[in-house]
Amino acid sequence: MSNIKASIITIGDELLIGQTIDTNSAWIAQRLNDLGIDIIRRVAVGDLKDAIREALDEELSKAEIILITGGLGPTADDITKPVLCEYFGAEMIVNEQVLQHLKDIFTKRNRPFLERNLKQAEVPDNCTVLFNKMGTAPGMWFEKNSKVIISMPGVPFEMMGIMEDEVIPRFRKRYISDSLIHRSIMTAGEGESYIANKIEDLENALPAHIRLAYLPGYGSVKLRLTGRSNDELRLIKELELRQEEIANRLGDIVIAMDDFPLEYTIGKYFVEKQVTLGLAESCTGGFIAHHLTQVMGSAGYFNGSIVCYQESVKENVLGVKHNTLDEYGAVSEETAIEMAKGALKVLGADYALSVTGLLSAGSESDRVPVGTVWMAIASKEDVKTKHFRFHYDRPRNKEMAVQMGMLMIWKYLHGKL
Ligand code: AMP
Ligand code: MG
Repeated sequence: MSNIKASIITIGDELLIGQTIDTNSAWIAQRLNDLGIDIIRRVAVGDLKDAIREALDEELSKAEIILITGGLGPTADDITKPVLCEYFGAEMIVNEQVLQHLKDIFTKRNRPFLERNLKQAEVPDNCTVLFNKMGTAPGMWFEKNSKVIISMPGVPFEMMGIMEDEVIPRFRKRYISDSLIHRSIMTAGEGESYIANKIEDLENALPAHIRLAYLPGYGSVKLRLTGRSNDELRLIKELELRQEEIANRLGDIVIAMDDFPLEYTIGKYFVEKQVTLGLAESCTGGFIAHHLTQVMGSAGYFNGSIVCYQESVKENVLGVKHNTLDEYGAVSEETAIEMAKGALKVLGADYALSVTGLLSAGSESDRVPVGTVWMAIASKEDVKTKHFRFHYDRPRNKEMAVQMGMLMIWKYLHGKL
């Protein structure tokens, strides 16, 4: 395993007061972890010269790579570039490629090019410019005593673009001689500790060059095997063997042997079988539809979703009986069944999932406990139902309902419900 050490310094007053959440560090850490580069520290400092210099001194004494984000904007509070220029004893020069890129952007947006913007094309003369195709401020790559210091803008998608296009390829060349291969297993329905218990012996038996990571999501856990070796073909065989071994042990909770979100796994099924899906969403507000339609080509199998909050909509659009709503309530197995059957008909789909629930205290509070969700999935042949009780706040309960809804579709299709 590599033991290249990296530190991340995030710069910005807004980070220190909690106005902006530092998502950059987490994203960078994940990408470097994938490469097998160890993040040893993460530091956040304000837009202050001394604070930035101190952080650089400190991190340079501990790590081989320092990744910096923030403080590269055109406004007066952004001082990272001049501070770095001075720190590395450089002079500012205009970079022609960056200047042209900036002028192009301003012409396209039909905006005047200001003196202030010219400054954005200036870089210290001893750095390598990391082109920022997503924005105006270029990234910078410095080297000092064989250590690498990289400065990138704070805007997350600009930073990501520079990392993917400029930084990671250079890291691969410079630090990584082995191949790094991943194999994943998507599971749903059980938590990390259940899984860890179940595969304890298999995990302990993994060789030193293969690591297993648990990546929990809402109602799902992704297991990722990462192997490193200079014999790529052998490594792939080895990883796939371990992957199969673990999946066999976990049995029913395995939903895919890749790491695509559930909506992709479901989508593949619908494309292959050439069948269609409809939804009736009461407490998920169209959020299941949103997830399903993140998948390219989903229009081919996803007929639509009826978002139905008022009882009148459940009755008039989906044909839920007034009596059913009165007698059993909107959040009930009976209503869920009629919603699913109604969606099947109205949307002309082969399968329909319905969701109805009480995610936080409301009008149904006296009939069912908060967090109660009923789902039903119907086809021309039959209807299956499932009851859930979530214990989080409203947004998290909603996200859980979405994931459980998609899992319900997957299980039904695979005869596992
Ligand atoms: P800057 O490069 O400092 O001008 O940053 C531009 C914008 O990027 C800021 O206004 C923040 O919204 C955002 N930003 C800066 N640092 C971070 C960070 N560490 N994580 C997420 N967003 C950030
Ligand atoms: Mg800033």
